[in-house]
Amino acid sequence: MIISRLLRPAAAMTTAILLSACGTTYSLPGVTDDVTSRADTMFAQAKAAPARQLASPQVGEKRFRRVAHRIEPVARQFCEKELAQKKTVDCNVRLELDRKMQERNAYFTYAEAGNKSPVIRFSVPILQDAESDDEVAFILGHEYGHLIGQHIVKQQQQAMAGAIILGALAAYSNAQAASAGAYYDPNDVSRSMELGAAVGQIAFSQTYELESDMLGTRIAAAAGYDPVKGAGFFARDEAARSKTGQLSFWGTHPADSKRIAVVIATMEEIKAKKSLARKQTQ
Ligand SMILES: [Zn+2]
Repeated sequence: MIISRLLRPAAAMTTAILLSACGTTYSLPGVTDDVTSRADTMFAQAKAAPARQLASPQVGEKRFRRVAHRIEPVARQFCEKELAQKKTVDCNVRLELDRKMQERNAYFTYAEAGNKSPVIRFSVPILQDAESDDEVAFILGHEYGHLIGQHIVKQQQQAMAGAIILGALAAYSNAQAASAGAYYDPNDVSRSMELGAAVGQIAFSQTYELESDMLGTRIAAAAGYDPVKGAGFFARDEAARSKTGQLSFWGTHPADSKRIAVVIATMEEIKAKKSLARKQTQ
């Protein structure tokens, strides 16, 4: 239909403006050629590494408690400093084991509706798979990064913005079609809203992951761990899907050398005493 075709570029532009309003908070470090080549080497080495022997669940759990004890106060302070102006943000994150989950996975979520009770959970298998405290520290720092970057809240806003725009456009073009005597499909509105929600979530996931890597690097380093060594955990060549079809950590965190490069570049900034930089527009 002509009207909807005319509206499409305007919709794309409006969506882009709204989505960029929900972008990342911080500037990522610049990545030099030297950093890129170091990241490529590390990535290739990690990919070629032989399969790991799993530690016992007890060893994994002990490692989690040890690392959580050290990371938690550092990350809470970091969160409180960064989000001090947002009184509604709770930086008191519960660090828990997800004993039911059989996949090697770790995630950040809110335990209560309305983005309340932030919690980071690790499955026992991911802890059995970890080879050093640095790896667990980096993953934990990375998950805190999703809270500090306010990624869930922003994705909800994006999904809503996308759904409203596409839903409104479908309703408008349907109304035009109906008035012109053309076929009117009421399902078109809800389909567009679903599509809008999906588009908004996919658009930023990689950007948010990189921001979380950068924040996680700073948290792990401040707690005395080696984030570069820890980030090697991401780079390993693991099947994204398990036998049960569930996504593992690698399914939600696709590994590429760019992620390692951001971690190395962030470490360079830390060593050069460059502090965390907010974007100009924020
Ligand atoms: Zn993540």
